[in-house]
Amino acid sequence: MLKWSEVMRRARHGNPVAGRRVEKSDAQWRAELTPEQHHVTRAKGTERPFSSEMCGLFEAGRYLCTCCGEPLFDAEEKFESGSGWPSFTHPVQHDAIAYQLDLSHGMERVETQCSVCDAHLGHVFPDGPAPSGLRYCINALALRKSDAGEARATFGGGCFWCTEAVFEQLAGVSRVESGYAGGSTPDPSYQAVCSGQTGHAEVVQVTFDPSVVSYADLLRIHLSTHDPTTPNRQGADRGTQYRSIVLTHDDDQASVARQVLAEMAPLFDDPIVTEVRPLDSFYRAEDYHQDYYASNPNRPYCAAVITPKLQRFRARFGERLRAGATNTHAQS
Ligand SMILES: [Zn+2]
Repeated sequence: MLKWSEVMRRARHGNPVAGRRVEKSDAQWRAELTPEQHHVTRAKGTERPFSSEMCGLFEAGRYLCTCCGEPLFDAEEKFESGSGWPSFTHPVQHDAIAYQLDLSHGMERVETQCSVCDAHLGHVFPDGPAPSGLRYCINALALRKSDAGEARATFGGGCFWCTEAVFEQLAGVSRVESGYAGGSTPDPSYQAVCSGQTGHAEVVQVTFDPSVVSYADLLRIHLSTHDPTTPNRQGADRGTQYRSIVLTHDDDQASVARQVLAEMAPLFDDPIVTEVRPLDSFYRAEDYHQDYYASNPNRPYCAAVITPKLQRFRARFGERLRAGATNTHAQS
């Protein structure tokens, strides 16, 4: 969690470059936003205090940038400041917000902007409650409440270290867990799954916000970032545990999966062999498999297989990366 000293350092010396960028002309922004939203977000305006019902809303959910949809704040961090503007103690992710020194009106303040599209949001002050001690004072017109809640998706496409590393980069994805599914052995170990006898595949379970990234797009990305045409195999990894699989959580997901597979079939030289079946149980993998690539970028497998895969993924899906998605860490 950022402290005031780090906020000031970024305001004076610059912010980390966001993994995802959205840039549009002023004419495009005017076409997409109401005049009031445009005045606040693109012309650094300020709405009248107590002018929005959002101040008094505390229901669970995410607050997204009204311009680009980037998740900025969570309702859990919202508090009643009495200022007349929605107030939060900290953003959902470290790098979701960019900080700029604002010397207007004879004051020294720190302006907050969306790090993805540079929308003006409001200001941040060092007089907030614990744990951050910060008060993000944000114009309601710069925010859009996500009502969709969270959903889950479960995919396998070879080694879960790779699959996890890809989905962790995406905007709208709040959590990715590696595990086992699709087989019959209860509570399997990694060793048992590697034997190929459990029927389980190495999979990831993705928690996502459907108002930011749809299930269909997650499927398209999944099919584009592994080879869905090689039965029980990804590159040098062979065995049923490496098969391409989509485990659906409900009938809607099953029908979307069938549509997306049909839509993408013509893009491949060979038939898609991805298995689609309802999820029975997801078994979370041992702790040392979670965030494996992020924790071990220089291990030979990561450097040789995952780093190039992530570079191709980033080049192709740059617009969809979340703020703060790291560039590949591995050194060769
Ligand atoms: Zn934005």
